Amino acid sequence: MNDRRSDVLVLGGGVIGLACAMHLLKQGASVRVVEQGKLGGGASHGNCGTLTPSHAIPLLTPGAVRKALALLGHHDAPLHIPAGMDLGRYFWLLRLARQGRPARAAHAARARADLLLRSAELTRDWVREHALDCEYAARGSLYVYRDARALREAQAHARWLERLGIEARRVDGDALVEMEPVLRQGLAGGYFHPGDAHLRPEAFVTELARRVRELGGILEESARIERVHVRDRTIEAVRTHRGVYYGERMVLALGAWSPQFARMLGLRLPMQPGKGYSLTWSPPARLPSRPLMLREDAVCVSAWPSGLRLGGTMEFAGYDDRLVDVRLAAIRRAALRYLQTSEGPRMQEMWWGWRPMSVDQLPILGESTRWNNLLYATAHGMLGMSMAAGTAEIIAALCGTGTCDLDLEPYSPRRFGL
Ligand SMILES: Cc1cc2nc3c(=O)[nH]c(=O)nc-3n(C[C@H](O)[C@H](O)[C@H](O)COP(=O)(O)OP(=O)(O)OC[C@H]3O[C@@H](n4cnc5c(N)ncnc54)[C@H](O)[C@@H]3O)c2cc1C
Repeated sequence: MNDRRSDVLVLGGGVIGLACAMHLLKQGASVRVVEQGKLGGGASHGNCGTLTPSHAIPLLTPGAVRKALALLGHHDAPLHIPAGMDLGRYFWLLRLARQGRPARAAHAARARADLLLRSAELTRDWVREHALDCEYAARGSLYVYRDARALREAQAHARWLERLGIEARRVDGDALVEMEPVLRQGLAGGYFHPGDAHLRPEAFVTELARRVRELGGILEESARIERVHVRDRTIEAVRTHRGVYYGERMVLALGAWSPQFARMLGLRLPMQPGKGYSLTWSPPARLPSRPLMLREDAVCVSAWPSGLRLGGTMEFAGYDDRLVDVRLAAIRRAALRYLQTSEGPRMQEMWWGWRPMSVDQLPILGESTRWNNLLYATAHGMLGMSMAAGTAEIIAALCGTGTCDLDLEPYSPRRFGL
């Protein structure tokens, strides 16, 4: 690689960009990553770090829109859509709502399951092969319900998962507390998903960056992309605060910021930021041994030897960058409805992040139909940690440096004319 040119220029240093970089380097490509701030400083930082094939079924399924509408107006509901939004976001939400139709939901669930299952397998292998020190644990996850009716309705969800090849074991209320003594007595029950795992996301991205450097990749931090240099239908270079960088191929891995970059190329990505929040404490005396999904309140509890994190909320407020106290307080209150102790002795961090939400609940992965050397690796929504390794395998295969057995059609940018 000369000073400023590489086989692959990865745009964005979150979990997706770093995973792609590491896998491409291993397959022999020269790689540079450009990141506007610190590596892993976007959505990949304070998320819950769960690796969840059990989330294969999309949020919008038949009947989900009605339930979502019922939540609007409750100030501490897990879904928040502020009034007075711009037309672009309004139309995007209408398109999203249509994804609840049975055929679309079934298509999304199958494609999500395929990528999630492959990623789960690859992440486990990577942790071992690259000795990634990230508190990875494969102990499954537990979905917990307070309400008997919600638990009954979850049965259809569990059966659907099983049809997709994802195990879901019913757990009675009393057995829940035996499995996780930190839970309160009297909960309705839940489902155990033995195929899930978790890791500490900040540590995972730090470790991916370490391996990228060790494998000869170059990481440019504080290098905000401001312009693109194009010739005919090829992107030759990007101009950043730190200079101009060239690549034979460009991988767009800018998470929720992807639409802003795409606009420079005349492309409209059907994405919106879905803001979420988390609170992290030093570990309390009693930690859950696996992630807990507090279902009615859509809060996730992740615990590692180094800390305890509560995460949740889906807020469609555009690129709003405020840490909103009301949302943080709602997450804390919700956790207490299920857990005896939901906080540790010392607060480590209060955080928000923008999930890169795609309008059809599937990531956008693959070669651009409009630009010769552009590949998309974006729009992973709530599942970027869970899909990073599989995404990297797909991108490397499309760059001609590896193989991938998945059917790539459902993720193709072609579906949006991109
Ligand atoms: C509260 C919460 C909990 C979550 N929990 C989970 C979970 O348990 N499991 C899971 O799988 N997923 C989870 N997610 C989703 C997950 O965090 C995201 O899907 C994932 O981090 C997206 O990764 P990314 O690399 O695409 O984006 P990011 O990590 O946001 O990376 C994009 C990068 O691009 C950089 N960038 C932007 N613009 C420019 C520019 N102009 N020039 C240079 N660089 C630029 C940004 O600084 C950023 O670092 C959660 C999200 C939230 C908010």
